[in-house]
Amino acid sequence: MNRKYIGIHLKDKKQLTENKKIENFIPKRVKISLKQHIGTKAFPIVKEGEEILCGQVIAIENFSPNIHSSISGKIEKITEGFIEIKNDYEENKVENKKIKIDTINKFINLLKEYGIVGMGGAMFPTYKKFNIPNGKKIENLVINAAECEPYLNADNRVIIEKYNSIIKILEFIKKLFNIKHIIIGIEKNRHEAIKILENSNKKKLYKIKKLKTIYPQGAEKQLIQSIFNKEIKTLPIDENIVVLNISTCYAIYNAIFNNKPLTKRVVTISGEAIKEPKNLLVPIGTDIKELLEYCKINESKVYKKFLGGPMMGVEIDKNSTIIKGTNGVIAISKKEANIYPEKECISCGRCVDVCPMNLIPLKYVEYYRRNQLGKMNEYELNKCIKCGCCQYICPVNQPLMKAIWTGVNYKNN
Ligand code: SF4
Ligand code: SF4
Repeated sequence: MNRKYIGIHLKDKKQLTENKKIENFIPKRVKISLKQHIGTKAFPIVKEGEEILCGQVIAIENFSPNIHSSISGKIEKITEGFIEIKNDYEENKVENKKIKIDTINKFINLLKEYGIVGMGGAMFPTYKKFNIPNGKKIENLVINAAECEPYLNADNRVIIEKYNSIIKILEFIKKLFNIKHIIIGIEKNRHEAIKILENSNKKKLYKIKKLKTIYPQGAEKQLIQSIFNKEIKTLPIDENIVVLNISTCYAIYNAIFNNKPLTKRVVTISGEAIKEPKNLLVPIGTDIKELLEYCKINESKVYKKFLGGPMMGVEIDKNSTIIKGTNGVIAISKKEANIYPEKECISCGRCVDVCPMNLIPLKYVEYYRRNQLGKMNEYELNKCIKCGCCQYICPVNQPLMKAIWTGVNYKNN
């Protein structure tokens, strides 16, 4: 029998930036990763020394969305993984030809050409979501506004500040695909955004599903479970559902109505080690150090820095830059991290209780300690979504996530 998923309640710390309006950030240079999507890395189609326009295609891959320059300037360096461009501050843009998007094929091609990927973190190529298999149709379009990681407000600010654009693109997609229902999934404590959604004269376009404030539920499968109260084992489209993140909707709006490729995104810069937390509209490829200095980081207070939220985000290293899936840059202090000493597992079972995928996380630590990493697969490590709930709840600080990542990397090598 399946256990009912209940999730965990986190201190969300959203108040640090929830009322901060989106500001533009202009970097000195960008270092654009060639991996801006799930799948194979893209290949550069430009050369070192070349002058580049903002919005120009700089890297391509047959089955993936294009990668564009996010600023205008000169290409300084091309390496295995990055294209580095120095900003000339001219903001010269590519003049894209305006195309009338009146068929599904044209829509899908434009999403690929304009580099649209899932901006909630997964970076799945969006054009593939709309490539509907024969015999299926989109009955329910679910808009993912469940930004359940602590600190993050990027999606929240997009709803509040870009609401009219979101409506325009939802009307467009609904008509193009003849969709029955649009459901916006949003946590019930996002009061300002909910007020805008509820008071709109366009509210007949969508239903609002107010979600409990639990973590995790931003991942597609948990969101579908929270909204439809059903567990899906395969892809959402097998249930005639497509899920789109709210920032992705805004990127599609810019592609269709403003003829703009995806070159910028809203990022929350927050955490107790940041003196001036903000929500910034940031060019893809912006250096994290430059962003953190702009928001006045207090390095002496930093315990850990993450790209994304502190639960599912990845720790920042010297190569970290803003990519299309980066919704936050978070610097937490030791006090916030709530560090306590590691002790032996007391078999309390709490990690099992909170796991949204019904796994047995303590087994991963057991096999990690015995150096039997291959054995983790017997306990369905492949189903782990790396949400960090097991780590968060463990009363004796067992190295659960360290064990999980070691097992995942072992499997991938
Ligand atoms: S990180 Fe993996 S094992 Fe741990 S709670 Fe999340 S899904 Fe379960
Ligand atoms: S929560 Fe920690 S102590 Fe409890 S069973 Fe899991 S690993 Fe062991």
